[in-house]
Amino acid sequence: MAQRTTAAARKYAADQERNEKKIAAGLVSERFPKVAGMVIKMTYYQEMANPVLMVRTVNVFPSSHAYFHMQCAVKECDEGGFDLEPIIARMIRGNKRSVKGEMTCSGKGDKLDKNHASISYEIKVRYRNKSK
Ligand SMILES: [Zn+2]
Repeated sequence: MAQRTTAAARKYAADQERNEKKIAAGLVSERFPKVAGMVIKMTYYQEMANPVLMVRTVNVFPSSHAYFHMQCAVKECDEGGFDLEPIIARMIRGNKRSVKGEMTCSGKGDKLDKNHASISYEIKVRYRNKSK
């Protein structure tokens, strides 16, 4: 029972921290003023006893928070996840319209396999029309 409370408290703390990071990241319109919109498509793979495959599409608007850390769906994985922020920042710096790639979860734990989860992503960016 005690352990369950600890896990819930840890989950709550993690959620709080996530929220704070999200706010600290600022808005897309501030961080990336030339971006009119973004679509992030992810396929999530989990390699455990029961392989899981999830597809998720995230629409990003100038009013969205510039926070692109995707959580790992493995319960035991506390500090893992996928940080697309560096990829997106590099992409926008280079005025790229689309990028594809793969990433392995950074989470580590006793019960976790190093390759317990990975994603493949496709990011598309629309830029504001500078000529107008
Ligand atoms: Zn993970």
